[in-house]
Amino acid sequence: MKRFLQLLGAVVVAIVGVLVVNTMRSARAADAAVVPVDVAVDSVGAIGRFSKALTFPTISYDPGTHPTDSAAFRALQAHFVTSFPLVHQKLKRETIGLALLYSWPGSDPSLDPVVLMGHQDVVPVIPGTENRWEQPPFGGVVNGGYIWGRGSLDDKVSVLAILESIEGLLRAGFQPKHTIYLAFGHDEEIGGHGAETLRDTLIARGLKHAALVIDEGGTVTDGAALGVTGKVALIGVAEKGYLTLELTANGKGGHSSTPPAHSAIGVLATAITKLEASPFPMTLDGPTEAMLESVRARMPFSRRLALSNLWLLRGAVVRALSAAPMSASMMRTTTAVTIIGGGVKANVLPIDAKASVNFRIRPGESVASVTARVVQTINDTSVHVAAVGFAREPSTVSDANGAGFAAISQSVREVMGGADVTVAPFLLMAGTDARAWSAKSSQVFRFIAAPPDADVLTRVHGTNERVTPAAYLTAVRFFDRLVHHTDDLP
Ligand SMILES: [Zn+2]
Repeated sequence: MKRFLQLLGAVVVAIVGVLVVNTMRSARAADAAVVPVDVAVDSVGAIGRFSKALTFPTISYDPGTHPTDSAAFRALQAHFVTSFPLVHQKLKRETIGLALLYSWPGSDPSLDPVVLMGHQDVVPVIPGTENRWEQPPFGGVVNGGYIWGRGSLDDKVSVLAILESIEGLLRAGFQPKHTIYLAFGHDEEIGGHGAETLRDTLIARGLKHAALVIDEGGTVTDGAALGVTGKVALIGVAEKGYLTLELTANGKGGHSSTPPAHSAIGVLATAITKLEASPFPMTLDGPTEAMLESVRARMPFSRRLALSNLWLLRGAVVRALSAAPMSASMMRTTTAVTIIGGGVKANVLPIDAKASVNFRIRPGESVASVTARVVQTINDTSVHVAAVGFAREPSTVSDANGAGFAAISQSVREVMGGADVTVAPFLLMAGTDARAWSAKSSQVFRFIAAPPDADVLTRVHGTNERVTPAAYLTAVRFFDRLVHHTDDLP
């Protein structure tokens, strides 16, 4: 017994030793110093060109509800022509439908090209909320320390920052090694066919791989939300898939005075209860694990200890992260019952009842595997399960250790505070046009380089979308640096 206790003691000491050594090692893995780079920008002119772009109502309406205002897109594109003369002199410009493609030939045509993406369209203003806007959504107003308007964050900020940065680079005589394409779709908010057409156009012309693709996505946030000191720039290395399943339960109808044990509504309610009681499993791996690995060096000791020793503490970490919807969503396919309907009159049994359930699918699962699990969980053949609306698979997961991620990381830190900002890969919950490039590059990333306010999620697609002039200029500077760093790509 004594020998056993001695042995046990030795094992405990060894484990504690490994835990502490791993934790110390992760602390030392802090970012190497980066020298901030000063990028000169014509601030007043740049803000004027950006805010003017917000005045064109390039709205993507839900299909079948309202025709696309092509004239608004053409007017926005005409604004680009007058605002960025060097871009339109030196780059080849093509319109494919309402989508826009610019080609900037590199000095070495043997290199894979770079694709800088953004979308010209915006979501509508929610009817009835117009007067909640502090400034008109399509006014292009600069007031009170903000540039206001639909698209100021999603995603005209990226489109304009790309054009502004390249105008500056051309003025300075910069010539990239890689060919650079600017691919600006016109319907990201309703499916992204424009982005797919632009990709197909380039593939038809011989594009095999892209060295780097960057589109909208993650942002720079205060690390406090992650328990991290300093700022964190979250670069989307993957995006979730999307699926809506409609559940339908049928009944015989009839008089409510002689009901069966379960009406169609009751049957449907049971199915919904089963789904909510059996959520998809949570797994800490892939982009979410990589994110935590990247930020743990800036965490307090206890969290760093846990995240540096997932070989032992993975289960406890998953349990801790599952407490908040945001971090839980990063580890699983989510289930959200969003619409329910059934019945027409209080004294009439319903003929049918329907519910819509929206799923955001994590990499590793698929539309088919999610559907199969839902059918299995409900386990009731009287409930019909069918996909409605559009569906898409999760994207591939880009390589956060590749040269493209390194170029983005370096550019972020050069214009956003050097070593004060931690750059981390992450799994984007929303969809972007970038997924169109999944098969053509291992370096497809999602990032909006204009640091937003903390309440960004209520403003994007919501009310009072706005960005500070300083944040917009940061995005311009970011793309200037990123274009420089494309020269470092293989
Ligand atoms: Zn967007």
